[in-house]
Amino acid sequence: MLDALDTAAGWLQENALVPLLWQLGLIQWEEISQGWAVFAIYGVVQMAATYAVCVPLERWHPVERWTDGKAVWTDVIYTLISRIGVLPLLTFVVFYQIQVALTGFLVDHGWVQPTLERFIPALLGRPVLTFVLYAVILDLSDYWRHRLSHMIGWWWALHSLHHAQRQMTFWSDDRNHILDDIIAALWFGAVATVIGVPPLQFPILVLVLRFLESLSHANTRIHFGWLGERLLISPRFHRTHHGVLAVGRRSANYGAILPIWDIAFGTADFSPVFVPTGDPTGGEDLATGGYGTQQWAGLRRFVAVFMPRAASAREGGQ
Ligand SMILES: [Zn+2]
Ligand SMILES: [Zn+2]
Repeated sequence: MLDALDTAAGWLQENALVPLLWQLGLIQWEEISQGWAVFAIYGVVQMAATYAVCVPLERWHPVERWTDGKAVWTDVIYTLISRIGVLPLLTFVVFYQIQVALTGFLVDHGWVQPTLERFIPALLGRPVLTFVLYAVILDLSDYWRHRLSHMIGWWWALHSLHHAQRQMTFWSDDRNHILDDIIAALWFGAVATVIGVPPLQFPILVLVLRFLESLSHANTRIHFGWLGERLLISPRFHRTHHGVLAVGRRSANYGAILPIWDIAFGTADFSPVFVPTGDPTGGEDLATGGYGTQQWAGLRRFVAVFMPRAASAREGGQ
């Protein structure tokens, strides 16, 4: 399977990207475009798999039905940009390039790059277990990234774009401000580098984790039962995180894949309800605007955190 994907990426690179780069006089970008091609092909496969699972679930047992799906289409655009465009490029440039540079730096100074197997020798010769452990550690780091993005004012200004959607579907996973995406990619890449995820395992990890994250946003009345809810994050569990908050109530369920972090840090809410989603504090531009309108509104909200007086004066003058 992975070989077939690499072949497809090679074909895309040779027949489309390299000729294009020659034409544009940008052939020095060849290596980067090769990395991008691999991740873009993975993104297409990932989207196809997510679509094949989530669309039947959303049709079979939806939480909500809408007559106007315009807001959902904006999330589709987010997914295309993020899975085929920006995210693969970021993942490649940020993670791969940093790792190559770091490895070179370490080797030059006579050090060896850290890997989990070096910390825990029992993992040597157990690639599947090591892979699972990488995923668990990355999931823990993602819990804290997400929780901090709700606690820090300027970060919430960006992340609130993700919460503005009232018509949440599996497409909503990628509905993020571009700055928030960049921070998340840096965070993920930094942790992955520190624990030494091998470059070849990285795309597979991203593939598996993002599939589960998309599923958790699906507009479907699905939960995994008492025990299952505590083992893997379900659409019901993550929907509670997206629930419209009563004033003064704290958000819950920050986890992406495993509920154990929410249980351990006291933020889990297993209420057996499917709540309405959205963020009434965000304004209509963030909720139902097109891609550009939402990005701009998110940026304005972000800037307003640093210049509250300028923002309120402008609003007062309108
Ligand atoms: Zn959130
Ligand atoms: Zn979400």
